[in-house]
Amino acid sequence: MLKPGQQVTVSVHSLTDKGDGIATLGGRPLYVEGVLPGEQAEVRLTLVKPNFCHGRLVRLVQAAACRREDFCPYTACGGCQVRVMDYQAQLELKRQLLLDALKAQGLDCPVAQTLGMDDPFHYRNKAQYAVQPGPFIGFYAKHSHQLVEVEQCRVQAPETAEVVRRVRDWMRGTAQPAYNEATGEGMVRHIMVRNGVNSGELMVVLVVATMPSEPALAQLVAGLESLPGLASLVLNINGDGGNRVLGPDNRLLWGKEAIADSLDGLEFAISPLSFYQVNPRQTEVLYREALRQADLKGHETVFDLYCGIGTIALFMARQAHRVIGVELVPEAIADARANAERNGLANVEFHPGAAETVVPGLYRQGLRADVVVVDPPRKGCDQALLETLAEMKPERLVYVSCNPKSLARDLAWLSKHGFELEQATPVDMFPHTMHVETVALLRRR
Ligand code: SAH
Repeated sequence: MLKPGQQVTVSVHSLTDKGDGIATLGGRPLYVEGVLPGEQAEVRLTLVKPNFCHGRLVRLVQAAACRREDFCPYTACGGCQVRVMDYQAQLELKRQLLLDALKAQGLDCPVAQTLGMDDPFHYRNKAQYAVQPGPFIGFYAKHSHQLVEVEQCRVQAPETAEVVRRVRDWMRGTAQPAYNEATGEGMVRHIMVRNGVNSGELMVVLVVATMPSEPALAQLVAGLESLPGLASLVLNINGDGGNRVLGPDNRLLWGKEAIADSLDGLEFAISPLSFYQVNPRQTEVLYREALRQADLKGHETVFDLYCGIGTIALFMARQAHRVIGVELVPEAIADARANAERNGLANVEFHPGAAETVVPGLYRQGLRADVVVVDPPRKGCDQALLETLAEMKPERLVYVSCNPKSLARDLAWLSKHGFELEQATPVDMFPHTMHVETVALLRRR
């Protein structure tokens, strides 16, 4: 009989979606944080259930060959789950996760090596720090809202540490209370920092539950305006009890409403609420791969579905006859139109609404795409959209996905409805995490 407190030695064979190690103990999975596949570990059981167990690492008996020294001092932070794995092994792991997901759906196609980064550090252009009474400023621990104080993070832009210091100084100097999640009282909730990697422009968004006084706001501006690169300082008001970081209302405190950035020669405006890919260097790699698979000759009509602020659409528009973007969030559509104009691209149009209602409508009006690109959220494409695509029969369908499981499910359906899966390429957008991005190509049979 296994019981909590007991110590066991186990072999780790795989990882969960969150990067915890999985071993098998008495016929059931044992989950252990901080161990890698191929490792033997001495583990103290913390939870024993009929179908699974949890344990805490006591000692590594045999380390994996891919284990390397931890580069991060914030061991409790839940951000980079597989950072103790060397980078090459991370890239192989991500390819394997994609292969496993495809295989589970009975799919088989050439899968390229994961396209990784030369320097997988400081890659993020957006940092979201949580603030809790103290004030403590940092990121959440794994599986919780327990705050881990973090200042200098290896995957964030180096400028962010100075923003955190100055906001903390302002909170202390003017006695601004942090928001308390448990009671709903207090003020400062989050600090969001966005930086245009190619423009050098910095945006700071302070998220508050209640309005600071005007003199306090003046002191905030005075404290932050000398930040190198600062182009925009925004107050976001979020009085909601829930988990959402940003509220709907912004007040510009200093500088301009949006910062600029460029991707592969295209310029984009980024406002506080708009979606923008978080790793700009790899976004170029991702979009170039999508473009390569789309194989445009210049005469095509292209659909970019789930288009966000139109980034993929504009990439395609430079090489296609006509591009139609569809996106659920109306503000993103407004950004997309502005971005098209900013870049002088007149052969692209954007439609607000759900892809699964807009695309059937366009199809009924007689519009057909030669090439379709989809880039849905984690849950994948809606069935009604897949059915319309199967009827429309575009020559090529490029599927960009952040979730191998929903990707494989949709690819399996499409493979049974007139398409042939040709190839898939994993792209590493989030080094040191379990996230895998994929670009897959289907061709009309
Ligand atoms: N292709 C873009 C955005 C991808 S993120 C880029 O690379 O930047 C996925 C997008 O799908 C989000 O912008 C989200 O708002 C949008 N979305 C979610 N559900 C949708 C739906 N049913 N129809 C259309 N867009 C949707």
